[in-house]
Amino acid sequence: MADMPMETYAVAETCIACDACCNDFGDVFKMNAEHTLAIAYAPVAKGRYDPWDIIYDCPVDAISLIKGELPPPPEGKKKKSTETAAVPEPGEVTDSRPWEVRWAEAQSKGEEGYWERFKRYGEAYVLEETPNQYRFRFELPSRVPEHKMKYKWNLPDKMPDYKIDVKLNGDGKRILVKGWLEDARVKRLCGMANSFPDRFLREIDLSHQVKEITTNYNPAEKILDIIVNKQ
Ligand code: SF4
Repeated sequence: MADMPMETYAVAETCIACDACCNDFGDVFKMNAEHTLAIAYAPVAKGRYDPWDIIYDCPVDAISLIKGELPPPPEGKKKKSTETAAVPEPGEVTDSRPWEVRWAEAQSKGEEGYWERFKRYGEAYVLEETPNQYRFRFELPSRVPEHKMKYKWNLPDKMPDYKIDVKLNGDGKRILVKGWLEDARVKRLCGMANSFPDRFLREIDLSHQVKEITTNYNPAEKILDIIVNKQ
């Protein structure tokens, strides 16, 4: 019996890691470990798919058939557009230069400061204690951390607001400060960019019993003030 003819695909560097091909043709494509580029990891038997369904699945023309016969483009089938694909939407990016240029520029500025990294762990805070109060001032993340995909996905530089929950726990002498990111586009960078979890939990023990807690968040400055009244 003759061998089954196989078709092989390839993915170009222009892939924007939108996941479409991996979701629609999971037996042919998968994401690389960094979730930055799809990989055509397996040849597929001729006839299993119309190659144009695969090629048109990609919104940025990154997929090509490199082994196998490509039939003439079918009439009536349409290429998936960037609007219909699961591509991250443009953020508030107004710089229209190519993403590679913006990424190269970001790299030339060097490492981010440790304080911005602390913010993503809920560690960037100061505490002032008075006879009647503890006054915490938390700085929340203000910038989306640097990563190649930040530019490739056209993500904004300004960090979306974190959701915040502040609670008193245990014997009334410990406060819990939780913060988490809900923005789905920026969250995709978590686990890719350095030191970028999608949430933090800070537990702070106090030496006095607490009567009440009030909070005030300033979104323009991304500052969270927590006033804790002692009993
Ligand atoms: S469909 Fe195109 S852009 Fe999206 S992951 Fe696959 S190759 Fe990359």
